[in-house]
Amino acid sequence: MQLKITCRNAGKRALIEAATTWIAQELKIREKNFALTIVSRRGMVKEDGARGMAYIIQDKNYIVTFDSGLNFDTMIRTLCHEMVHVKQFVRGQYRTELKRGRLYHFWNGTKYYNPKYHEAPWEIDAASKESLLALKLNGLMCLSR
Ligand SMILES: [Zn+2]
Repeated sequence: MQLKITCRNAGKRALIEAATTWIAQELKIREKNFALTIVSRRGMVKEDGARGMAYIIQDKNYIVTFDSGLNFDTMIRTLCHEMVHVKQFVRGQYRTELKRGRLYHFWNGTKYYNPKYHEAPWEIDAASKESLLALKLNGLMCLSR
């Protein structure tokens, strides 16, 4: 994993780097060949109604964005959630395709269009892994404090 973090605050950047590296290790994708850029964005919740997002910009090249105004716990949780999507991209489980203005999702070869958020298998996977990852990560950070 080649990691790049775009965040003006150096302390926060170091924290995101450490957390992301740990999550990638935990999801067993740290040794895989891909580039990941993490972008902290102002006003994302307001604009997109999402705390975070993960997407593919080209082959083996992914972006994770999250709202820069999130509190610490929510930021960690969001990072864990989006990293599960990165794991899905890296392992070829999940991809999206924009065709004539429509966003199609492919999960293990099955095509989906406009699925309900909580019923989409990639979101079920992310939601179920996010909690345990965040819990473990929080535990580690408490120990080192
Ligand atoms: Zn998600």
